[in-house]
Amino acid sequence: MKYWIIFLLIPVYVSAQNKYGLTTMKLEEYKLSVQTNPDNELVNLAEFIPGIVLEIGYATPNNFTGKKIYTLARAYARKPVAEALKKIQADLQKQGLALKIFDGYRPYSATVLFYETYHDTTYVASPYKGSRHNRGCALDLTLIDSNTGKELPMPTEWDSFKKEAWPTTPVADPVIRKNRKTLIDAMEKHGFKVNASEWWHFDFVGWQKFAVMDIDFEELEM
Ligand SMILES: [Zn+2]
Repeated sequence: MKYWIIFLLIPVYVSAQNKYGLTTMKLEEYKLSVQTNPDNELVNLAEFIPGIVLEIGYATPNNFTGKKIYTLARAYARKPVAEALKKIQADLQKQGLALKIFDGYRPYSATVLFYETYHDTTYVASPYKGSRHNRGCALDLTLIDSNTGKELPMPTEWDSFKKEAWPTTPVADPVIRKNRKTLIDAMEKHGFKVNASEWWHFDFVGWQKFAVMDIDFEELEM
């Protein structure tokens, strides 16, 4: 009798967790979570924030994997994150600047793919924990001139694995130094924290309240 119970429990346990031991939220559960707490909504940033520009690196082969990861070029973030970004964009617009987004919410399956491609968790999130991007609480972004649409010079390209990408690495060029500071100050004023090894990556303070999700963009738009 005892053995039968064990036999019946194993499949239930396996289906609730993935191979890295993490339980991720799927579409139906996400919809229910939005009903209980509207802050859980993943907001489409291009629709929500006037003048925001998207250049979604993972929707093209121009990223460290060399592969197109997303089939749609979209940027989503949880509602309070999107609201903070809207304020940042408004602040920047007063200075003739605007935000350009490289990545927002990222389905957990993409994090697994990055890890299995690269393995170094200094630059890619561990699939055992998931990324803050998977929680809809992280953004990869830079500044553009709102008149020309051109990116402001920064220490490295987005997604660079160089030490120059660390926000603490000294920068000789005063213009680049100022641009990096303008971006970090603008983001940190409204509740974000810059990542220690990527000047373009910002986590929303309070990200722990939001679940790791594995829902792709097509599902969100259904
Ligand atoms: Zn990032």
